[in-house]
Amino acid sequence: MLSIAEETPHGPVMINDQTLTVIEITWSDGDKSFDVYLGDNVTGVCLTNDYSWDVMPTEDEMRTLLEHATCERCGDVVDDIDQDCRLCPKCSHYNDTRVIL
Ligand SMILES: [Zn+2]
Repeated sequence: MLSIAEETPHGPVMINDQTLTVIEITWSDGDKSFDVYLGDNVTGVCLTNDYSWDVMPTEDEMRTLLEHATCERCGDVVDDIDQDCRLCPKCSHYNDTRVIL
């Protein structure tokens, strides 16, 4: 059974004024995967929830990941942005229910 043999943090790196950390995971079969987190450890929002990278992402790739996780309205970085409207759940909910005064 596949298990994590080693976790190596890279970073933190600053991208668009946000701190990101890349965690390199070495699996028991020698394969590697890379996950990107907001902040300086794995307790932050995971920007690679849907898939992991096979190679270390470049700064440009991390910037794209970050931008795809940033709410266009409030600027929060969350891992479940609605990719259609680019809003976090809080803001897309607000969008649905707002009252026009
Ligand atoms: Zn928002």
